[in-house]
Amino acid sequence: MAESKMAFLIDTSRCIGCRSCQVACKQWNKLDADKTVNQGTYENPRDLTSNLYNRIRFIEKADGDSFKWLFMNDRCVHCGDAGCMKVCPSPGALYRTKEGFVAYDKEKCISCKYCVAACPFEVPRYGTDEKVSKCHLCFDRIGAGMFPACAKACPTQTLQYGPRNGLIAKAKAAKKTVYGEAALSGLGVLYLLDDKPEVYGLPADPSIPTAIFLWKDVLKPLGLLGFWGSILGVLTHYVTFGPRKLEEDNSGKGGDAHG
Ligand code: SF4
Ligand code: SF4
Ligand code: SF4
Repeated sequence: MAESKMAFLIDTSRCIGCRSCQVACKQWNKLDADKTVNQGTYENPRDLTSNLYNRIRFIEKADGDSFKWLFMNDRCVHCGDAGCMKVCPSPGALYRTKEGFVAYDKEKCISCKYCVAACPFEVPRYGTDEKVSKCHLCFDRIGAGMFPACAKACPTQTLQYGPRNGLIAKAKAAKKTVYGEAALSGLGVLYLLDDKPEVYGLPADPSIPTAIFLWKDVLKPLGLLGFWGSILGVLTHYVTFGPRKLEEDNSGKGGDAHG
């Protein structure tokens, strides 16, 4: 990773579950509200949607005779080696910003949904427009010299944005374990967790599904080879034998109409 790479660090121990981050993201990105029903939990909505780029998971953890909440900010983690980008067949639909995050251009999305299968964190969503939708790490705000909307709204500094190396060094100095430092060539969104990743719904060892490598690195090149091989075959035939002449139909079949 480049020295100047930026990152987003989420210190879950500081989160109070206020969900200002959810609201700020919706406001900045002009995202409609999702209609939900009460399911007996404060967690709302229960999953990311095409109109919800980050949300707080409310995790109940046993604590003696009682329980305690663990709060977890769920979102795209902007993988260094991003399965979504790797599999996307439409150039520029998913792209990396100069800060190192994974943004997208809906105009270039062809709605194939390959990115859904390729994401180890089950992040990309599709709405009624049938275009990819997820956290883009406020590339527009960052480009204008502002902080990401969710980080700006967070009252407890759970969400921190800054140079990646500096954030990691600070976390390690505080004897915290960093999730995502090396996984998938380094995540752009790092977590500080008080328990195992699985408790927070994060994969312990995230990896891009093997089938994606098969499709991207083997089957797709073979398909292209077959396509260009066919073109080459047609050209070779043309150069060798010249254009194919239409045989005249002297049999009379299909000629005159019968009264
Ligand atoms: S978390 Fe998923 S959508 Fe986000 S960059 Fe990684 S692979 Fe892509
Ligand atoms: S970084 Fe921006 S787009 Fe991503 S969750 Fe925060 S506010 Fe939303
Ligand atoms: S704004 Fe900050 S403290 Fe509030 S829920 Fe989001 S991450 Fe947690």
